[in-house]
Amino acid sequence: MEIPQLWLKKARENSTSQSEYKCKKCNDTGYISVIIEGVSYAKECECLIVNKLEAQIAKAGIAQAFKACTFESFEPWEPRVFAAKEIAQRYAKDFLSIERERINSLSLLGAVGSGKTMLGICVLNTLVRAGVEVLYTPYREMASALKRSVLDEYEYAKVCRRFTSPRLLFIDDLYKGAASTDPKYVYDIINARYLAKRPMLITSELHADGLMHIDEAVASRIIEMSRSYIRELRGDGLNYRLRGL
Ligand SMILES: [Zn+2]
Repeated sequence: MEIPQLWLKKARENSTSQSEYKCKKCNDTGYISVIIEGVSYAKECECLIVNKLEAQIAKAGIAQAFKACTFESFEPWEPRVFAAKEIAQRYAKDFLSIERERINSLSLLGAVGSGKTMLGICVLNTLVRAGVEVLYTPYREMASALKRSVLDEYEYAKVCRRFTSPRLLFIDDLYKGAASTDPKYVYDIINARYLAKRPMLITSELHADGLMHIDEAVASRIIEMSRSYIRELRGDGLNYRLRGL
C-alpha cells in the first residue's frame, strides 16, 4: 500500500459536500428505475457501485486514497512513473472495448513506492464511474479468505466466487508475505478468471521473472492476459518516500 501524504491532503480538501443529496441521480437511494420494453426495473445507481468500491478500499486502510487517486491528480515524479501512468491510463480508456478479449488485464510490477497501488486505484476510480463492477483486494486478504475456507467445500466455492465473479479484480501486492501453500489458492482464482476471460489488475513488488519463479502457471497466465498493458519498474530513484533525501 503506497499512498503519500500529499494525496491524502488533496483528498481531504476535495471531500466537502455541496448539495443536499450527494447523488442527484438517485437522491441517495442507490437505485434508479429503468424502463425496458415497457416494464420498470430498479437498477444500481453509479453512486452505489462507487460506494462499494470505497468501502473495499477503506477496509484495506487506505480510505483517503480512493478520492485522491485520479489520473488528473496523479503527478508522476519520475519518467518511469510517467510511463506507468501512461499505460494505466490507456488501459482504463481501452477497458470497455478489450474486456472480453484474451488480452484484457493490466500488470504493474516492481519497485516499492513507485505508485503502483495509486495508479491501480486511478483505473478503478475511472471504471466504476463507467458502471463497471470492480473488486479491490489486498493480496493477503484474498489468500487468507481462501485458506480459512478450504476445509469446507461449499464455503470455499463461495469465497472463490467472490473473487472470480466481478468484472474487474484488482489484486494489490501479489505474493506479498506469501506462505508456501499460497500458490494453490492463487492458481484457483487466476485460472478461473483466465478461462472466463475476466480482466485483472495486478500489482506486485516482484518482476515477471520473480512471479514465474513462484508459480509458472499463474505467472504465464497473468503475463499473457496483460501482454499489451504491462510495466516493470526497475532501478533506483523510484520510491516517492525517498524523494528529497
Ligand atoms: Zn446515485
